Amino acid sequence: MFRALSLGGFLSLVGVLLMTITMSSQVRAQSRKEFAIVIHGGAGGDPAKWTEEYRQQRRAGLTAALEHGVEQLTAGAEAIDVVEQVVRMMEDDQTFNAGRGCVLNENGEHELDASIMDGRNLRCGAVAGVRQAKNPISLARKVMTETKHILLMGTGADEFGEAIGIEQAEPDYFRTQRKKASWQRWKNQDVDAQLHRPKTIGPGDEQLYLGTVGCVVLDKQGNLAAATSTGGLMGKRWGRVGDSPIIGAGNYADNQTCAVSGTGVGEEFIRHTVASDIAARIRYGGKTLQAAAKTVVEALPEECGGVIAVDGMGSMVMEFNTPGMSRAFADSAGNRGVMLGRDD
Ligand code: ASP
Repeated sequence: MFRALSLGGFLSLVGVLLMTITMSSQVRAQSRKEFAIVIHGGAGGDPAKWTEEYRQQRRAGLTAALEHGVEQLTAGAEAIDVVEQVVRMMEDDQTFNAGRGCVLNENGEHELDASIMDGRNLRCGAVAGVRQAKNPISLARKVMTETKHILLMGTGADEFGEAIGIEQAEPDYFRTQRKKASWQRWKNQDVDAQLHRPKTIGPGDEQLYLGTVGCVVLDKQGNLAAATSTGGLMGKRWGRVGDSPIIGAGNYADNQTCAVSGTGVGEEFIRHTVASDIAARIRYGGKTLQAAAKTVVEALPEECGGVIAVDGMGSMVMEFNTPGMSRAFADSAGNRGVMLGRDD
């Protein structure tokens, strides 16, 4: 009798335990979003001072890129493919400072930086100071998949792209009339010798150092990826490389922690190892994505830039210490938005 009862008791205890485990994994499964995507189109400048036309242009570019990403993710596409495709779209849009319509260096030439990272396996690829690839982000991906290296630079990177058949473009494709005019204004200004940025910004000069692009994604398979692409800073010294192609500074993705893309004064992002610091605070400090990103961005010099990030649960973060950061986000739970300034 005692044995039968205790067996019965034991079995019901197992039943209760199993139910609890099933319920808690359901709760976890429910709270993990199926997918999440955040994109940025650069920080810097004050969106409140932009013309309505320019604001609309930026919103339209962000919306189109976001919609494309959401469509792909809904259909089950992989994070690494989505970040590349979305960044390609923004590189092709001359509103942003990446690919076509990039800012120009001190000599009035273009030198593009980009990187991509796969959170599944920490594989990554990057290019710096390239001039020929129509879409630097795709060249960066080829460095990841077709070489045993991570970062290729200058003519070596361009030759590699040409050799493997990456689509090429002429200098005038990248150097739009609008960016040439901005460069001319920059040339006539008093510039900060260290950062090659204007000390003052006149009306209409919102083009000067705005518009680096980035995308971070959690896909339906639970994988993370990040991609970032830029023309750098207007009037930068030729040969200067920013944070965007530096893994752990302007770009990072690791399924264990998060995917991050940064925008702002690259020198500071490199100095503060911004993207990997956010991941490290989650990994070793047990911080949430939100808390980690906030702490790291707050530690940057004033009006320096911002980050977008997602984690494996689909939390989305957009932190910046500039008056604005062009950004858009969407997830499988129906959250969605396109914003330029602090509140709109
Ligand atoms: N971070 C980029 C760079 O320094 C510029 C930007 O994000 O606007 O090259």
